[in-house]
Amino acid sequence: MQGSFSSISFQQEKALVRVDFNVPLDAQQHITDDTRIRAALPTIQQILVQGGAVILMSHLGRPKEGPAEKFSLKHLVVHLQQLLPSSPIKFAPDCIGKEANELAATLQPGEILLLENLRFYKEEEKGDVEFAKKLAKLGTVWVNDAFGTAHRAHASTAVIAQFFPSEKRVFGLLMEAEVASASRVIHKATKPFVAIIGGAKVSDKILIIENLLERATDIIIGGGMAYTFWKAQGKMIGSSLCEEDRLELAAGLLQKAKQRGVNIHLPVDSTIADKFAADATTSNCESFDIPAGWMGLDIGQKARIDFQEVILSAQTILWNGPMGVFEMKPFQAGTLAIAKAVADATDKGAFSLVGGGDSVAAVNQFGFADRVSYVSTGGGALLEYFEGKVLPGIAAVQQS
Ligand code: AMP
Repeated sequence: MQGSFSSISFQQEKALVRVDFNVPLDAQQHITDDTRIRAALPTIQQILVQGGAVILMSHLGRPKEGPAEKFSLKHLVVHLQQLLPSSPIKFAPDCIGKEANELAATLQPGEILLLENLRFYKEEEKGDVEFAKKLAKLGTVWVNDAFGTAHRAHASTAVIAQFFPSEKRVFGLLMEAEVASASRVIHKATKPFVAIIGGAKVSDKILIIENLLERATDIIIGGGMAYTFWKAQGKMIGSSLCEEDRLELAAGLLQKAKQRGVNIHLPVDSTIADKFAADATTSNCESFDIPAGWMGLDIGQKARIDFQEVILSAQTILWNGPMGVFEMKPFQAGTLAIAKAVADATDKGAFSLVGGGDSVAAVNQFGFADRVSYVSTGGGALLEYFEGKVLPGIAAVQQS
C-alpha cells in the first residue's frame, strides 16, 4: 500500500528527496527565477521539523558530457541556505561515491545535504538500475517531489523506487498537490468542464485535445493553432500560422467533437497584423476571412466576449496555452481577458487549473496567479498527464 507524505514520521529518517531544481541561471550563475526551489520548500521544511535529515537530488540543465561547471548545483547552495536559514546545508560534489556516502552517513537530523547534478552521469537519464541503487543507499525514505520530471523514467525519478519498500516511498507535498489537482480535472471534473487550449501549434496539442474530447463539455481553441482549424474548414486565414500537414487531423477532431457532443469554440475574430512584430500595423477582422498578407496574432474583441461567457459557465477549468502572442503588447488583450475570466469563474466557485508553460507565465505576468485554484509547476509532465499517459514518476510511487 502506498504511503502518503503525512503517514510517514520522518523522525530519524534520512529522506532522499528528488526535487526539480532545474532553475534558470544567468551568465554569472545567479538564479533568475527560483519558483521551482520555493515550490519544494514545504516538503523540505516538513521533514526537518519532524526531526528528519534531507538529502536533495536534482538535475540542472542538459549536461552532455559528464560534469560541467555551468551545470553544477553548487551554484544553488547560497540561495537555498537563504531560503532555509536555520538548517545547515552541505554539498556533495558528486551525487554518488565515497564522499556522498560519508556525507549522507554523518548527516544529522535537521541538516540538509545537496547532491551534485544527477545528469553528470548518463546513467540517470538511461534509468540505470545500478546507478539508482547507489543513490538509494544514501537515504532511508524516497520522496518524489519532482513533478516537472515525472514524465521521465530516469534513475532518480522512477527506477529508484524498487529499492524502497512501498511504505518508504511517497510523493512530496508539491507532487501530492500537483497530482491531486491534475487528477481532479481529468478524472473527477464537475461539469461543465471547460478546457482552454492555446499556443502555437496544433501538433503539440493533438493528443490532449483527443483525450479532452472524452471528458470536457466545451473546448476553447485559441492562439496560433486556431487558424489551422479555420483553414481545415476551407476558410481564408491570410498568412496566419498554419500547419498544412495537420489540416485533415484538425477537421477530424472537429468531426469527432460533433459526434461526442463536445462544443468546440474557435475565435470568431482576430487582431491581425501585417508582420510578426510589436510595431506591426494592426487591425481587427473575422478569423475566417483574413486578407492575404495579414496574420492573426490574437483573438479579437468578439471572441473574447464569447470565450468569457463559456468560461463563466464552467465548474471545472483547464487552461493551457496563450490566446495570442502575449509577449508583445499589442497582442496581449486576448490572453489577459481569458486570465481574468478564469479568475472570475474561480471566484464564483469553479475549480481552475492553469498549467504547461506559457499560460503560467501569462497568469503570473497579469497578476492572476492568486485568483486561480492551482498553477502547475509541471510543463511537459502536465501535458503528458492530460494526454492520458501514465507518468513513470507517479507510477513508481504508487506501484505495490
Ligand atoms: P505553446 O508553447 O505551444 O503553448 O505556444 C506558446 C507560444 O505561442 C507563445 O510564444 C505565443 O507567442 C505563441 N502564439 C500564440 N498565439 C499565436 C499566434 N496567433 N500566432 C503565432 N504565435 C502565437
